[in-house]
Amino acid sequence: MALPSSAERAATPPDLIEDELALQVLAGDRRALAKAITLLESTRPEHQQRARVVLDTLLPHTGQSLRLGISGVPGVGKSTFIEALGLSLVAGGRKVAVLAIDPSSTVNGGSILGDKTRMERLAVSDSAFIRPSPSSGTLGGVAERTRESILLCEAAKFDVIVVETVGVGQSETTVAGMTDLFVLLQLPNAGDDLQAMKKGVMELADIIVVNKSDLDPIAAERVETQIAAVMRAARASGNPAHALGTGVTPIVRVSARTGEGIESFWNHACELQSRRQADGSFATRRRDQALTWTWDLVHAALLAEFQRHPAVRNVLAQTLNAVSESRLAPATAARHLLDLFVS
Ligand code: GDP
Repeated sequence: MALPSSAERAATPPDLIEDELALQVLAGDRRALAKAITLLESTRPEHQQRARVVLDTLLPHTGQSLRLGISGVPGVGKSTFIEALGLSLVAGGRKVAVLAIDPSSTVNGGSILGDKTRMERLAVSDSAFIRPSPSSGTLGGVAERTRESILLCEAAKFDVIVVETVGVGQSETTVAGMTDLFVLLQLPNAGDDLQAMKKGVMELADIIVVNKSDLDPIAAERVETQIAAVMRAARASGNPAHALGTGVTPIVRVSARTGEGIESFWNHACELQSRRQADGSFATRRRDQALTWTWDLVHAALLAEFQRHPAVRNVLAQTLNAVSESRLAPATAARHLLDLFVS
């Protein structure tokens, strides 16, 4: 397959695009966008193939948005925050898309954005697009669909793409790996619990928001101080999460309910983004994410191929059994299986 050069990619003007659905997405048609995402999420091969064509056609028109990941424990106020931020951005003339990653929806059939009452004011805006989490597949599969949906939203000219995560399991790392700024929401009453907080997740954060500050402004200030100390310690210990040298992580006190602090949050986000664009770390992050995405796909496809291989399938269960009963060393088992795969 010949790969298009960046000059060729850039040279595909909209009037040369023949695919009707791609054209509609490019024109910002939200129904077409929803339809294209539905094709992406479909398990039917003909739908997937159609989605591939649309995605490939639109690829040169992607990449221009700010991708914002939002995480925090259930109840911290993520959807209230996203709605307040979204409404403020829309009022400022921007287009906002909200996507979600909720692998648990594949288990219980529910979805974090499935409830129609969530973000209902934002949902009625002509400049907003809200899409629930894909409701089938593993976290890897759900993440894959969401990454592609981000690209489609960008082609539809959305300026800010928010990816919401449930804040449990591995979804934070996944969302941080596909967004430009990863935002962690915290409660103002964390107190001693702060020590128990998932520090790994906190260190992923580019911006920390202390939400519900209206409930207890003094506690919110105290939590801000505590978080700042934890982040300082993480930096001092040379945690690789801070290796990019983006400076001190902003901590912003917000009330998503009253809207206080939302503007300040947005200013911090824009400032951080501009700084990273200037020092090159934004481009590095996007490039690394694209490479990781590629390798993820290669790993997943290879693993599927491996598990489908007849010779491997014949002995897989008994080999794994032998390993779990300590009759076979893991390295020997892996070598044996790989030999069967490649021979
Ligand atoms: P999510 O599960 O993280 O998406 O949380 P929600 O956005 O659904 O909010 C959970 C509850 O907290 C709801 O009852 C919200 O009205 C409330 N809430 C969210 N943000 C604030 C805030 O800034 N102040 C106050 N007092 N309540 C809030």
